[in-house]
Amino acid sequence: ANVLVVGSGAREHAIAQTFLRSPQVEQVLVAPGNELMEQTTNLTCLPIALTDFTGLKAAVSKHHVDLTFVGSEEPLVAGIVDAFQADGLPIFGPTQAAAQLEGSKDFMKQLLHHYQIPTAQSETVTNLEQAQAVVADFGFPVVVKTDGLAAGKGVTIHQTKTEAVQWLTEFYQHHPAAKLVLEEYLTGFEYSFFTFVGSQQIIHAPVAHDYKRRNAGDQGPNTGGMGAYSPVSKVTPTIVQQTITELVQPTLDALAAEGRPFTGVLYTGAMLTKDGPKVIEFNVRLGDPETQVILPQLQSDFYQLVQDLLAGRPVQPKWQTEQTYLGVVLTNPDYPQANQTWYQLPQLPTDVTIDYANGVVRDGKLMSNGGRIVTVVTHAADLQQVHQQLYQKLNALQTELTFRPDIGQNGTK
Ligand code: ATP
Repeated sequence: ANVLVVGSGAREHAIAQTFLRSPQVEQVLVAPGNELMEQTTNLTCLPIALTDFTGLKAAVSKHHVDLTFVGSEEPLVAGIVDAFQADGLPIFGPTQAAAQLEGSKDFMKQLLHHYQIPTAQSETVTNLEQAQAVVADFGFPVVVKTDGLAAGKGVTIHQTKTEAVQWLTEFYQHHPAAKLVLEEYLTGFEYSFFTFVGSQQIIHAPVAHDYKRRNAGDQGPNTGGMGAYSPVSKVTPTIVQQTITELVQPTLDALAAEGRPFTGVLYTGAMLTKDGPKVIEFNVRLGDPETQVILPQLQSDFYQLVQDLLAGRPVQPKWQTEQTYLGVVLTNPDYPQANQTWYQLPQLPTDVTIDYANGVVRDGKLMSNGGRIVTVVTHAADLQQVHQQLYQKLNALQTELTFRPDIGQNGTK
């Protein structure tokens, strides 16, 4: 079979490599992919933009693609699944209507409040007066989120009313009438919970914990993600069950009740609070970097799994349970600021899994090209051991690229 993966990051590189492990898969195409993954893995990148549905569909027929798997949110929110389904092309992901769960935080919060699914209290506002009127309703710190897609960078946290009002005032000067969600600040342990939702059943993947802040000790700005590990012992089987019965299933039921049935990957960003698990956010696709530490744990055939889910056939995926997987993201030094300075990639160890994101190949050399460059993944018997093993390798690298020194340290955070 031939598979098309839509996206261009380290997540898509990991997805592509997982499909390549299936004995049924002959060819994996990635659109648009990146030069580094194409240079290092037996796959083909197609220079087609994420939202060029006509171009993607033409590639599907040209290359006899049997299954399309969407990695990133942008095409989902723009309706790629609807466009493919209209032509009868098999694709795994939610429709545009269901993808609103990620596409609009306002939609997501209204849905959860309406169906009483546990999440932070919130109010949506569209101007400064409204914002000022509710800013203190949930105490401080208060969380402020822009409504649309922001690649992990649309959230700010304000410690005091003065600070929040100052930020809001400035925001509305530049974005009059923009929608903001003002939200109660939750505390607890954050975990990423992935459900593969088929037409008849749902299955969940091993739980992951990711590190969104740029710097050691969870300091600095939010990023797309600096590293992750999985499974997470702190999230016990009981909490997993609770997450499904209290957060995931009610949300899927709510979407169905609203005429927006969901198929694809549902990513629940959950917080284990003192009152139980609550939803921080939903995404409608796999996470980056969580995917890089989750998919290597799948021991059964990924292609078969996705096809069975789509067809409504019963599935029983096999995940490993003995090892802990750890992934660390190497970035350009000034990430998350935009900068496209090129740095040569270091010689990476050969006994780890490598998932490439932003980069180019020039004169046979792998060069970084801004942002997150590569996720390096390995596994060992427990978190402490895998942390030690991976950092021994990373600390020996001669490189200008940077990485957090504490991914997976201290057991939980
Ligand atoms: P992503 O890249 O994960 O899609 P996003 O832009 O959708 O990010 P959120 O996931 O909603 O943003 O928020 C980013 C991070 O901010 C969360 O992972 C969490 O650490 C923090 N955060 C968000 N909402 C809250 C909250 N209500 N209480 C405490 N922390 C929060």
